[in-house]
Amino acid sequence: MSEWPGYFISLEGIDGAGKSTLAAALAGELSRHGYDVVTLRPSDTELGELVRGYLLEHHQVPVDSWTEALLFNAGRVQLLRERILPALKTGAVVIADRYADSTLAYQGGGRGLPLSGLHWLHREACRDVWPDLTFLLHLPRSIAEERQRSQQLPLDRFEADANGFHEAVRSAFEELAAAYPERIVKVDAGRSPTAVFAEICEMALRRLAGRRTPPRP
Ligand code: ADP
Ligand code: MG
Repeated sequence: MSEWPGYFISLEGIDGAGKSTLAAALAGELSRHGYDVVTLRPSDTELGELVRGYLLEHHQVPVDSWTEALLFNAGRVQLLRERILPALKTGAVVIADRYADSTLAYQGGGRGLPLSGLHWLHREACRDVWPDLTFLLHLPRSIAEERQRSQQLPLDRFEADANGFHEAVRSAFEELAAAYPERIVKVDAGRSPTAVFAEICEMALRRLAGRRTPPRP
């Protein structure tokens, strides 16, 4: 059982999988059920915004893979201390749009850094805090790309990377889901938004109902 009364949910998957859309929808639905909900992205601290701005938009100078891992971890330490832990301590449901699995998938699977080193970093810097429940949104990259194209946003440094990188990220996510089946629930994100939303809502509400802290009356 967690050290705090709150509940921690993360959404993971490649860009365009639907994380942000679902984070907002799930937050709305859980609020309607009486839960206090805090939705967070990795850039939701001052340092996190700085770090992600540099890492995602900086195309000119090659960035070493360890620099990527360390900076993403630095952003996450601040997010954890400033936002996630305080919210969990008040009993809120935290919904994180990406968390530590992204670093294992992108810098581990994608860039080839050893998972043991990345796990060590997370254990030491982020107190080994993991979500209670993670939804891994599973979607072929071709469909994710189509969705992103229709948004007409500029590609970031990771999205512009070669297909081999994205394939490695996708399979790292799959391996994480296989390694942590209690925590990570794989969701077929290729269906309609309504169908995906219904599945994750039902699962989140069911898991929350099994917890100590009930929603507000
Ligand atoms: P992510 O945060 O994972 O990058 P987004 O939530 O921003 O993904 O979604 C990317 C795009 O795909 C958005 O235009 C969104 O409206 C659309 N989208 C999200 N979920 C679905 C879905 N299930 N079916 C079709 N389009 C979707
Ligand atoms: Mg998003």
